[in-house]
Amino acid sequence: TDVSTLIDRYVRDIPDYPQPGVVFKDITPLLSHPTALRTAIDALAEPLLGSEIDLVAGLEARGFIFAAPVAVRLGAGFVPLRKAGKLPAETLAESYDLEYGTATVEMHADAVPPGSRVLIVDDVLATGGTGRAAVDLIRRAGGTVVGLSVLLELGFLKGREKLADVELRALATV
Ligand code: 5GP
Repeated sequence: TDVSTLIDRYVRDIPDYPQPGVVFKDITPLLSHPTALRTAIDALAEPLLGSEIDLVAGLEARGFIFAAPVAVRLGAGFVPLRKAGKLPAETLAESYDLEYGTATVEMHADAVPPGSRVLIVDDVLATGGTGRAAVDLIRRAGGTVVGLSVLLELGFLKGREKLADVELRALATV
């Protein structure tokens, strides 16, 4: 079974979460299905297997689940990109606008040595704000962003338009 079919089958819609009018894509059925989980991780890693990648950066929290096993497959290390206030050492931060208010993504200031080649991984690309902040953080540290890979792109939110300067890969698009 191909990966987009598995994503279609094992990612479910939760209406009115986290707020009325929003349909949340819940990936937990995919996580608990052994074949779907392995197929998704393999498919995220596969296009990058020939590339030189030093680090895979995962976005808290669901991005972590995929980024670490992808890093292992690519022979790379893992870097956590976290919500504000979670990382213990000195951080770099990028804030971005939400519909109401702002959000902040942080990374340890020494996590990406200058010249590092970094792949960013997350579960879902929605408006693109989180991915944009992740790209900007890694570039500020002196890293090269090799790509941004997600399981699922919500095409109708046009997040891709914020990431025109990045090699964006999605295993499936709705
Ligand atoms: P964006 O910044 O692109 O609007 O939102 C993407 C971030 O929010 C990702 O880190 C992703 O985990 C989370 N996110 C937004 N919408 C959804 C959704 O419908 N399902 C899941 N699983 N995550 C979402």
